[in-house]
Amino acid sequence: MKAISSRHVFTQGKLQEAAIVYNKGIITDIVSAKDIPKNCPHRDYGDLVIMPGLVDTHVHINEPGRTDWEGFNTATKAAAAGGVTTVIDMPLNCIPVTTTLDAVNVKKACLKNQMWVDIGFHGGVIPHNEHQLKGMMKAGINTFKAFMIDSGVDEFPESDTNTLDKAMPILAKGGATLLVHAELDNSCQQPLIHDKASYDEFLNSRPHKWELDAIALIIRLAQKHDCKVHIVHLSSAKALNLIKEAQDKGIKISAETCPHYLILNSESIPNGDGRFKCCPPIRNHRNQMALWQGLEQGIIDFIVSDHSPCTPALKRLEEQNLWDAWGGISSLQFGLSLIWNYLKINNYSIEYLVKWMCENPAKLVGLENQKGQIKKGFQADFVIWNPNKEHTIDKKEILFKNKMSVYEQHKVFGVIEQTILAGVVIYDKNKENNFTHKPNGKYL
Ligand SMILES: [Zn+2]
Repeated sequence: MKAISSRHVFTQGKLQEAAIVYNKGIITDIVSAKDIPKNCPHRDYGDLVIMPGLVDTHVHINEPGRTDWEGFNTATKAAAAGGVTTVIDMPLNCIPVTTTLDAVNVKKACLKNQMWVDIGFHGGVIPHNEHQLKGMMKAGINTFKAFMIDSGVDEFPESDTNTLDKAMPILAKGGATLLVHAELDNSCQQPLIHDKASYDEFLNSRPHKWELDAIALIIRLAQKHDCKVHIVHLSSAKALNLIKEAQDKGIKISAETCPHYLILNSESIPNGDGRFKCCPPIRNHRNQMALWQGLEQGIIDFIVSDHSPCTPALKRLEEQNLWDAWGGISSLQFGLSLIWNYLKINNYSIEYLVKWMCENPAKLVGLENQKGQIKKGFQADFVIWNPNKEHTIDKKEILFKNKMSVYEQHKVFGVIEQTILAGVVIYDKNKENNFTHKPNGKYL
């Protein structure tokens, strides 16, 4: 048995003075500091915040197959340093893609000695893999991603209505959720490109309409098949009404957005810098403000990284070619500080951070009774951090594989001191070697 305490423990919906007692990785009690059982080893963190470890359900780790882009070792170390204790890996850009039970097992075999935090997988829906879905569900996967547009990799083709009509009843029957990359190009037009470096041209080539059309279609299919759907990385705030209407009608639809849509905006993106490219694209400041509102109104359920790295060459920085640059933004390690910085400056409380980055994402993957809250019976996963200390994000501290970030030199509030996974300190900012001597995570 062990206990930790501070004057700012986030439990029962608010920050309060408390002590958390845990045993064998599970929280056994939450008491006031004076009620910690005698002889129980105890550490008091003073004024630091003790919050549940973050749950990031949208991470592209790319191993095996594209391990030069990212791998389990580097990604989960970056997660630990960022206060993230649970990551769920996307079914593409690894090879094989996670669209069969065999592929799940191939990926699982790569995890050995590489899990610095807990990790789970999303499965994938692609044309003609409907016969694989049941097997993957039996193996414990309850979330499956599909693309409604070209995914960027040949191994993961997009799903048309016909494919979704086959997959969704199977997912619905098993209680699983379909995650959708919601962009749909009904125009069949090739864009005319004048300047490959122009961010505006790139932005205009992926209009709001693409997201709106995709979301309208997926809502119809969700209703038809009574299947839970979840919109990944929502960028267009114009879709919020559509989602809200569906939610009000009882259609099972949820949505997420990401730090880049909430922190960056098209007005401040330099031309020719492929690091800022992602799909759907980062839109203007007005759209960004509306996304924050969507979160506040509960139409968007949570914030996840969509950490999607690649090698620097693929960002085509020298040619300033946004069209051929790989789309994806890395932020796994910095999500807490980036979002907290905005919240603090705009007078939101830590409550929102916990709801949007711990509690609600845990629900998507069925972990809502184990993770995302500091509560009796939950896993003892904590991030211990200083909300009032400022920090400048620097290339030197990046732990994910390719040391490239659009957030370099961003000055942000929120410094992570320690991360605890199932009762074990897995990351300590102030220790010479910041990590435990071996990875402590498990496959979920
Ligand atoms: Zn993604």
